[in-house]
Amino acid sequence: MKCKLLVRASHLLLMLVFLTVLGSAAIAASPADAQAGKSDTVTYVHCGTLIDEVSDAPRQNVLLEIAGGKFRSITDYTAGFAKSAGAAFIDLGVETCVPGLVDSHTHILLQGDQKPGQYDEQILKWSLPYRTILGTRSARRALEYGFTTIRDVETEGAYYADVSVRDAIKQGVIPGPRMVVVTRALNVTGAYAIKGYDPAWTFPHGVQVVDGPVECRKAVREQIANGADWIKVYADQHVSTADVVHSIPTFTSEELHAIVDEAHREKHKVAAHAMGLEGVHNAVEAGVDSIEHGAYIADDDLKTMVAHGIWYVPTLYIFIYADEIHQADGFPGWKGGVEIHAETFRRALKAGVKIAFGTDVGGFEWTINPAKEFPLMVQYGMTPAQALRAATVSGAELVDMRDQIGSVEPGKLADLDAVSGNPLSDIKVLEDVNFVMKEGVVYKRPEKH
Ligand SMILES: [Zn+2]
Repeated sequence: MKCKLLVRASHLLLMLVFLTVLGSAAIAASPADAQAGKSDTVTYVHCGTLIDEVSDAPRQNVLLEIAGGKFRSITDYTAGFAKSAGAAFIDLGVETCVPGLVDSHTHILLQGDQKPGQYDEQILKWSLPYRTILGTRSARRALEYGFTTIRDVETEGAYYADVSVRDAIKQGVIPGPRMVVVTRALNVTGAYAIKGYDPAWTFPHGVQVVDGPVECRKAVREQIANGADWIKVYADQHVSTADVVHSIPTFTSEELHAIVDEAHREKHKVAAHAMGLEGVHNAVEAGVDSIEHGAYIADDDLKTMVAHGIWYVPTLYIFIYADEIHQADGFPGWKGGVEIHAETFRRALKAGVKIAFGTDVGGFEWTINPAKEFPLMVQYGMTPAQALRAATVSGAELVDMRDQIGSVEPGKLADLDAVSGNPLSDIKVLEDVNFVMKEGVVYKRPEKH
């Protein structure tokens, strides 16, 4: 339910904890500014340091020339350089510039559903228009944090609201990151919230419920027709804890294959929420394109992921957050779960699986900066450079935009963040992005400017 880690009291009585994984500065630019950024107006940006994700090492004192929303040239900066008439100049001489970041697992239409009662509150009591209004605020916050692109992986009962927000951003109506959306995730009867009420009543679902390969195929067609960029499936439920985490698959193999086959036939990709051995295995065997969360992944499945180029989007922070929430609420949390997840991350890294940065923000409140994921990736074995790359080059590749974003190169979209300090020695500085540009438009700048 809900990209959600929910501890249920009945499970505690059995001394087992089951997890059901459901699933600063003001914005500176107006829609008019957004249009201006895409015009031929030239903007120069001086970066004291630039991590361009192309060079072997950071470059010092670089001048970026930006026009038409793209990087036009990248040269050494010299004071008094010849700037064309009417051009703007932004001096980030004491900052480190990095490519705009990509969060590959977000939920703009959830506002922290992990807290007890919040999922039912949001799905049952909040109107779709109100949830969408809050979704626009979440999108703006993502941009303020420095995420210029997000893959938003399910509306949780808000139908196709993600398509509307994506398109409003694209049209310059509201500020926000570039969005890749999945619309309504797919799950089978009985596997997803809203659950646990009198069966005499009918309640809305957080997903689109489908059973059998025919319904699966039809739902994929329907979602793509309604604007979905990716398809999202829930591959398992009821995760139990042990050294090997087991789960109960939701879809049959036949159903999962139908979903993947139909999505791929229509040139769309599939993200699979999968937490335990069986769910991950079935999803990998069905040929999905990304495994979301993957608390436990068997070594053989890691090998298959490498062989087929299947992405791993681990979402590390949400597990720690959920543990804290549950413990604060008097529950023990998922005993050992965080360690199991960390161990899976280490094995995946060692095996050479493609790992992209993703956070599950929305599961935790949007007032918490999703960049908290970075230090965990480093703590669990990545170098700071690898962690940054997971949110730049890898994120760009995951959303099939490697030719447009993910690095600072002439011809690419001018998505640029800046921080004080050096993220390659202290990854935590990415939690305090003080300059954000998307397609040449400045949405946030250091206070001194
Ligand atoms: Zn999620």
